[in-house]
Amino acid sequence: MDWHDTPEQAQFRREVRDLIENGLPQRYREAAARGGPGERAWEFDRRSSDPAAREAANAWHAALYERRWVAPHWPAEYGGGGLSPMEQFILNQELAWAGAPAVGGSGVAMLGPTLITHGSEEQKQQYLPGILAGEVVWAQGYSEPGAGSDLASLQTRAVRDGDDYILNGQKIWTSGAHTADAIFALVRTDPEAPKHRGISFVLIEDINAPGVTVRPLVDMGGRHYFNEVFFDDVRIPAQNVVGEENRGWYVGMTLLDFERSNISGAVNARRSLQRLLNTIADDPDLAARVRGKPLQCDLAERYVETEVMYQFSLRVISMQNRGQIPNHEASAAKLFSSELSQRLAQTGMQVAGLKANLLEDGPASSLAHHYIGMVPATVRGGTSEVQRNVIATRGLGLPRG
Ligand SMILES: Cc1cc2nc3c(=O)[nH]c(=O)nc-3n(C[C@H](O)[C@H](O)[C@H](O)COP(=O)(O)OP(=O)(O)OC[C@H]3O[C@@H](n4cnc5c(N)ncnc54)[C@H](O)[C@@H]3O)c2cc1C
Repeated sequence: MDWHDTPEQAQFRREVRDLIENGLPQRYREAAARGGPGERAWEFDRRSSDPAAREAANAWHAALYERRWVAPHWPAEYGGGGLSPMEQFILNQELAWAGAPAVGGSGVAMLGPTLITHGSEEQKQQYLPGILAGEVVWAQGYSEPGAGSDLASLQTRAVRDGDDYILNGQKIWTSGAHTADAIFALVRTDPEAPKHRGISFVLIEDINAPGVTVRPLVDMGGRHYFNEVFFDDVRIPAQNVVGEENRGWYVGMTLLDFERSNISGAVNARRSLQRLLNTIADDPDLAARVRGKPLQCDLAERYVETEVMYQFSLRVISMQNRGQIPNHEASAAKLFSSELSQRLAQTGMQVAGLKANLLEDGPASSLAHHYIGMVPATVRGGTSEVQRNVIATRGLGLPRG
């Protein structure tokens, strides 16, 4: 496949660069220069106590909203960009190079496409505009203490009571629940049915409703990123079920099918390597540590791997472009990308040596923060073992364990 832009794609790329040039707030440019604004930067800035952070989040959202690029993958009739897979790829690629934060959170990435596929017309009218306008940010309530990789074991119960359901149970690792306005969840509506068949997909429109408790989980880097969410007799209207009752497993799996090329992972790997090389070039001590040592070979390995990662992304996008649905190919891209991000971070720590133990401002300390920040990469969105199982069974045709 020829990866040079067609004249139309080149024009589209110029438009994206133009938007970044003129619309990306200074706050995010500075963050990108330091290594990136961090995940969910837009969501967290939107609810920050710092007015400058809120202003940057609003300005960046407005710039994308004006172009209809808040949800590039949604059809135009629902307010999305209606972009082709290749245009989405170019947009995501350019935004990732610029270190620009994604806007709209799980509502844009996951819930919107799910409502468009499975929601009623009323649900689409009711929820999609708020997601696009950045007014309602949704959290994803899937995982539970006893249900992660084996998600269908989830136990949160929803019991029908007249026109309502009453929810009881607990979710865990809920990213950004503390800054979200609402939460969608998989809940058990029929405990007697086989485990995949008794699950429903529900919308809890107010995450601050009586009976919902969001408790912080602070990660090993000292970050408050995810949470536990408890439901104690939380009442939601029966019409807040998306799709059919007890068929929620299939609804819930739809939203795991989006954003599969992981081009931002591929771009971030290249950026991480480049940042590391710049840090070495700027610091004679580090340059001396690396010169002629095994570390130099490690850096060369990381370079080769970042290029391989890029090829994985191109493979997935070329499939999407031909109308095929990537499956084990996307798992291979996710597996390789997440493990590469950890190897890159580890090489960074080895390059920085003892300096990396200083968790204070400076290039070496940012390497240490980066190292800690990459630990969850091989767990979130399906662990490496789960991805390997998919590649082995669906990709290589090996028997299921
Ligand atoms: C940063 C981060 C953000 C997250 N955000 C969200 C969120 O917003 N919403 C949400 O619902 N969830 C979220 N999660 C949860 C995430 O989806 C789960 O952590 C993940 O699915 C793994 O589940 P678990 O943690 O229960 O681990 P487990 O499933 O208990 O796995 C434990 C270990 O066993 C291995 N294992 C499990 N099953 C198999 C198998 N069949 N074969 C081989 N090995 C196996 C796993 O690979 C792992 O090493 C987030 C997680 C992280 C780290």
